[in-house]
Amino acid sequence: MWTPTFPPLPQVVTLPRGPVRLEDFDAPGDMETGRRMGDYDESTRLIRVARDAEPHYRALVFYHEVVHVALQDSGLHNLLKPKMQEAICDAVATALLRMLHDDRQDPDSSDAPEAQGAPGADADATGA
Ligand SMILES: [Zn+2]
Repeated sequence: MWTPTFPPLPQVVTLPRGPVRLEDFDAPGDMETGRRMGDYDESTRLIRVARDAEPHYRALVFYHEVVHVALQDSGLHNLLKPKMQEAICDAVATALLRMLHDDRQDPDSSDAPEAQGAPGADADATGA
């Protein structure tokens, strides 16, 4: 069974307009009433991620906020409605999470895409 690994999140990342710091915080609320699991403060260039979230969810929230920073640093956020921004942040964060933390080493594993008949799994190395 595939078990992704999640190293500690970085304390600082460098994005287009400069460094962004990361802090853990105690997210208020609960899962039933809704919680803000992370946020980004543009004025201080600080990303906060809920301290008590599961490692995979902390990584997902972190990447989501990083995409918010990238959209703001580039000015693209001015062109996007809030729901569209959130959808883009979720989509890119999910892709980053899978790309950076999918550490399966065994290509013959039953978890490998080829074994599951995933789209594109039958393409050969030439791209044909
Ligand atoms: Zn968001």
